[in-house]
Amino acid sequence: METLGLYISVPFCRSKCTYCNFASGVFPSSYFEQYTARLEADLHTARAQAAAWGAVLPAAADTIYFGGGTPSILPAELVRRIFSAIRGELTVMPDAEITVECAPGQLEEATLAAFAAAGVNRISFGVQSFIDREAALTGRLHNRAIALEDIRRVRTAGISNISLDLIAGLPGQTAASWRESLAVLADTGVDHASIYMLEVDDDSRLGREIGIGGLRYHAVEIPSDDAIADFYIEGVAFLAGQGMMQYEISNFVRTGAQADHSSRHNLKYWQRAPYLGIGVDAHSMLRTGAGQALRFATTDELEPFLAAAGWNEPHWLTRREELEEAWFLGLRLNQGVSLTALCEEFGAENVGEYVGRLRELESEGLVVRSRDHVALTAQGRLLSNEVFGRFLEERAAAV
Ligand code: SF4
Repeated sequence: METLGLYISVPFCRSKCTYCNFASGVFPSSYFEQYTARLEADLHTARAQAAAWGAVLPAAADTIYFGGGTPSILPAELVRRIFSAIRGELTVMPDAEITVECAPGQLEEATLAAFAAAGVNRISFGVQSFIDREAALTGRLHNRAIALEDIRRVRTAGISNISLDLIAGLPGQTAASWRESLAVLADTGVDHASIYMLEVDDDSRLGREIGIGGLRYHAVEIPSDDAIADFYIEGVAFLAGQGMMQYEISNFVRTGAQADHSSRHNLKYWQRAPYLGIGVDAHSMLRTGAGQALRFATTDELEPFLAAAGWNEPHWLTRREELEEAWFLGLRLNQGVSLTALCEEFGAENVGEYVGRLRELESEGLVVRSRDHVALTAQGRLLSNEVFGRFLEERAAAV
């Protein structure tokens, strides 16, 4: 039986981080109820909409992921309403992975209790740094003590599957402070971590400041690109030494634990399994009965989203586009792409068209080929966007 990954977008934040231009913002809490009503309505109409497009919406969800934004600032009553709507429209598998992204210091006791009662069994904390000054410089509202206390509270509530995010390259970060953040993360004993290299959106406050060569938001304190790459490489090695192996460009999981705590929801994205996104700037990928993939999304601004129901028109992927996606999504995973599986799905002739490009990438040290698998090298993971761009160049060349 094919199962679904369900993504619920919650675009509300208590403060706007300087580097962020996600579809999130600081909105009055009066919006929360209206937004929840829209989530309920979209959950209710999703099946009919999918059917109208000839797409199959699996009846059962085995992963649910609340992202944002900051889902942890929702009041308990709205959490209960959203889960009630989910369970009214989908069968939630008994062993489903149900994740909520939380900002430390922004998780009220009643909301935590509502999450736990609703079956949430995984919390992903956007810590970004355990150094108080670094967290403060980017506009985050927590410090180390608050983050550690929240991890303890979540465990006390019975949720033991915890992931922590860190960002390499925050303003003010040094090699020593980065090591300290990594060490504190290791001390928490969590089973999953994500490390992102700082990406400053051009349209964020920090991005605009960098664009004009300004000094605000501590723009001049951002480490150099080389330093950020070094932090990332050091993070990968440090976590490996702690028994946390990299399984994706930004993701690490403890090995030898009783259960595999790799993010089952995010694996669906990289393995091209069906998922439905509900809420502002939420993306979906479903398949028709014949197996053709279609992608669709909602608008990325709250006001227009609330003003007009439904999803934007879908894009039906060509086989060529699906093959490209199979390459660049699969290569995100350390295990890489199985050539046998790819040939079975797309035909050896079509896969063979990429041989020249793969040889180039191999000679540049960006990918490595073992018997059946092609995977990024450590250098390839650092330059992953460049590698993925090469697969899209194949499309441009073919058009
Ligand atoms: S980084 Fe996360 S918490 Fe900060 S503004 Fe963006 S969505 Fe909100």
